[in-house]
Amino acid sequence: MQDRPLPSEKPNTTMLPQDAVNKTDPADIARDILAQAFALGADVAGLAPVDALRLSPSERLFPQMIDHSRDHFAEQITTGLPHGSVFWEEDAKTVLIFGVAHPADQPSLDWWCGEIDPPGNKKMIRIGKALRAYILENYPDIHVYTKRYHVEKGGLYLKEAAVAAGLGCIGRNNLLVTPRFGPRVRLRAMTLSAALPAAGPADFDPCRDCPGYCRKACPQHSFDQVIYTPEMTGIRHLPGRDGSYFRKNCSMEMQKNEDEALTGLMPEVCDHPEKIIKYCRACELACPVGRGNTSDASTH
Ligand code: SF4
Ligand code: SF4
Repeated sequence: MQDRPLPSEKPNTTMLPQDAVNKTDPADIARDILAQAFALGADVAGLAPVDALRLSPSERLFPQMIDHSRDHFAEQITTGLPHGSVFWEEDAKTVLIFGVAHPADQPSLDWWCGEIDPPGNKKMIRIGKALRAYILENYPDIHVYTKRYHVEKGGLYLKEAAVAAGLGCIGRNNLLVTPRFGPRVRLRAMTLSAALPAAGPADFDPCRDCPGYCRKACPQHSFDQVIYTPEMTGIRHLPGRDGSYFRKNCSMEMQKNEDEALTGLMPEVCDHPEKIIKYCRACELACPVGRGNTSDASTH
């Protein structure tokens, strides 16, 4: 049992020196790895047991979905599994999930430059590579598997992993809502072969007493009618909580954003003009939770 809680947001502590870490104690290893994630620039990070995520609500719902849209990045399945199924490495025991804040005042973190990853994605890739190298160097017995973003290419359901890791809850906008940054975070994950202690879902629900600013902000009315019910699907945790999130409407807005994108320069990611795609974030930016909080690690 861990004697101190695991942080899910950047703690006010510096990393322990390596010789102060008991490398046979899973709780010590967990704290050290999470501290390293924060030191590398993550704004949220946590651990979740793989067993809690097998056949998650999203994976079970997938075969019943009437509104899934396969974007062109996810068209080609590389796992060899049915569409929507998660590939778990045989010895994977723990999901290490981390995220980077995407505050409203740094919108370009989220902008695509043609098909070039937005700066926020690049930052997460950098953190992921450095974190993997750190774990391999300091814990050579642990196998580390970097997970791709798309489930079809070996990824996992990031929001469900984040909830299981205590990072926040799924809001009525169908996004992960964290206490500090609200829904303005982007996530990445890797799996580890070591069984490490997890914080477990957090007792946090800002949506309970909220009039639903997120839903009112949607230009495509993506939450206007219930399309999935527990009775119909046999699943209690549904998109948008009450089964009202209609992904196809949202995809229409994404398509519109791509069609209307103007050509411009983003020198931080590309040295020639490209279409700068600014995907809709209305349901994310309208949420008052964590508004105004910026990353402590914006210099990374
Ligand atoms: S705007 Fe309100 S209902 Fe929507 S995600 Fe934020 S807290 Fe929840
Ligand atoms: S991203 Fe935009 S279109 Fe999609 S659900 Fe949110 S507000 Fe609606």
